[in-house]
Amino acid sequence: MTLLTRDVARTIPPLYSQEDEDDPMLVTKFFLPGTRWSWFVIEGAMAHPRGCGWGEACDHRSLASWFEHEENDAIFFGYVHGAAALDDEFGYFRLSELEAIRVEVPIAGALLPPIEAERLSAWSSSPDSAKLRVERDLDWSPCHVSEVRS
Ligand SMILES: [Zn+2]
Repeated sequence: MTLLTRDVARTIPPLYSQEDEDDPMLVTKFFLPGTRWSWFVIEGAMAHPRGCGWGEACDHRSLASWFEHEENDAIFFGYVHGAAALDDEFGYFRLSELEAIRVEVPIAGALLPPIEAERLSAWSSSPDSAKLRVERDLDWSPCHVSEVRS
């Protein structure tokens, strides 16, 4: 799955644009299937020189100086659900970090809910396990952060 398309990028507000909001909108959701891990996007910036594709009008190019440019990468500010509710927090995360995540799980794992076969990648290291990757929630409807805070 392509985690970030140009069309999705255009729906993400530029970095800092919601910083005065008490209850910012979560416009996109990335998640690790079968786990509680989720990355809800509030704002973002792309390393591409033309930003999200709006050309000269794009605000996504105004990158923070601490963001090392990598073509096709992006940095997001958002709310992250961790393994437990105690771990939930606001923070920054990169598209490249989400793309690199591989979690090996037992196929018959009793600790995980059933995972649909098409989500299991073929290159697992043993026939009894599979590696999961982060996905984008295609059915996500933007909501306020207060609706996902525990
Ligand atoms: Zn843009």
